[in-house]
Parts: sequence; structure tokens; C-alpha cells
Amino acid sequence: MENSSFPKCQKCKIGDLVPLSDFGGQGADVHYKAWVCTNPECSFNIKIRNGDIYVNEPISTRTLPVIPRPRV
Ligand SMILES: [Zn+2]
Repeated sequence: MENSSFPKCQKCKIGDLVPLSDFGGQGADVHYKAWVCTNPECSFNIKIRNGDIYVNEPISTRTLPVIPRPRV
């Protein structure tokens, strides 16, 4: 029995596509919202948002939250 039951990435044929879950706007879990290739050289991804499917959107590495400084 194979341990990896994830589908192979069809772009690089090296990585696996793993499902990512997210939280919805109402706090409900959104399971398998996005699938991302585990190969960092590839980073192929497919995701669904509001019923629309987005394929291979660029992954932003600059999504760190900007915390506003409180005024003293
Ligand atoms: Zn890939």
C-alpha cells in the first residue's frame, strides 16, 4: 500500500499535489480549497475561490501581514 495517495503534479511530474484547507469568511472550514505542488521549483497550484477555479497563480512570498503600529 503506497503511502502517498496524492496525485502527481502533471506539470513537473516530480512533486505531489497536496490539498490545502482554509477558513471561510464565516469561520467555517473550507476543505481542499487549493492544491499545491510540493516541488518548490515548480509550485504549480490550483485553487477555487468563490466558485471560480484559478490555475497556477503566482505564489506570493510577501504575504506577511502588515501590523499597523498603535499610536501612542
Ligand atoms: Zn509540480
